[in-house]
Amino acid sequence: MQSIYEKYQLKHVINASGRMTALGVSTPTPEVVERVTYGLNHYFEIKDLVNKTGAYIAHLLNVEDAVVVSCASAGIAQAVAAVIVRDDDDLLLNLHSSSKVIPREIVLPKGHNVNFGAPVDTMVTLGGGKVIEAGFANECSAAQLSAKITSQTAAIIYIKSHHSVQKSMLSVSEAAAVARQHNVPLIVDAAAEEDLTSYYQAGADLVIYSGAKAIEGPTSGLVIGKKTYVEWVKRQSQGIGRAMKVGKEGILGLALAIEQYLTATKETGAEMVDRMSGFIEELNAIPAISARVVWDSAGRDIARAEISFDEKMIGKTTYQIMHELKQGDTAIYFREYKANEGKVEADIRSVSNEQLNVIAEHIRLLVKGI
Ligand SMILES: *Cc1c(COP(=O)(O)O)cnc(C)c1O
Repeated sequence: MQSIYEKYQLKHVINASGRMTALGVSTPTPEVVERVTYGLNHYFEIKDLVNKTGAYIAHLLNVEDAVVVSCASAGIAQAVAAVIVRDDDDLLLNLHSSSKVIPREIVLPKGHNVNFGAPVDTMVTLGGGKVIEAGFANECSAAQLSAKITSQTAAIIYIKSHHSVQKSMLSVSEAAAVARQHNVPLIVDAAAEEDLTSYYQAGADLVIYSGAKAIEGPTSGLVIGKKTYVEWVKRQSQGIGRAMKVGKEGILGLALAIEQYLTATKETGAEMVDRMSGFIEELNAIPAISARVVWDSAGRDIARAEISFDEKMIGKTTYQIMHELKQGDTAIYFREYKANEGKVEADIRSVSNEQLNVIAEHIRLLVKGI
């Protein structure tokens, strides 16, 4: 039978770059895939499905309430709309066009105003908000955050992410203290984070996760938080939420993926080191290539293979080598953040042992003859 790759002439991908949206993020378990199929094949009262799966997830995470959304970006836009509209029916239907004077400012540390693949600012604007930056590009204290809060502030948003500036940055609990002091809600975008409880426990009113990143669910997002705020997020399904709705299959798939995520035994960093050792040895046997184990710079339990290329000996820049590895029938993707220094990292969480051999073989072919 003709494969989907043949039918549409798609390239096969070996993803050694981590959880990348541009490559399809992650692969759910067979049980989650089966649950998605079940969802597609059945009818539900959708409001009931949303409320009861939300309550079930909230119980699992020991939070007041939860709701499945279409992705983390949709979670940001709807969370912002929720804190602006609250329970006002007229505003719900006229979010952008209403001339009613209400707080619309969303305050965030300047170093959190990032581009995660799309800009945070665009999602806030989509939700009817206006970004107000606090502090500086490289620092934001509680006092600097506090200084930007006025009667026009609708919420504080905190972007907990490796994309954000980490240096001289207040913590989530400190941001929560500022929010409480001014009686405004705190929204935390923790899209790619692995911890599903601590930001809520630190005092956030709404916390947003991507369903397909750490949780490895179907394309979806999760918003957890205080009951009233989650209710207001749900109301947005009659407003901007309609343009970003999640299907019944995504709701059921993510609910199961979360349940599995909480009990799954993850591959530990030490196990990754074990699995990479043969691969690293093989790479070190290739002229002009050296490889070693490095640990995640954000402190997560992830080991990666750092591969260095002797650009002079090979006669190519690391960028050219990366480009060549993406040609052919199978495209190989690494983490290229340090390619300007002649190094890349292989993240093997989504790479099988067989694929590790394919990667080593492709690299060997690339430098053949030098
Ligand atoms: C990935 C990411 C998002 C967007 O998540 P999607 O589920 O792809 O919409 C938002 N914020 C941060 C910090 C991210 O890393």
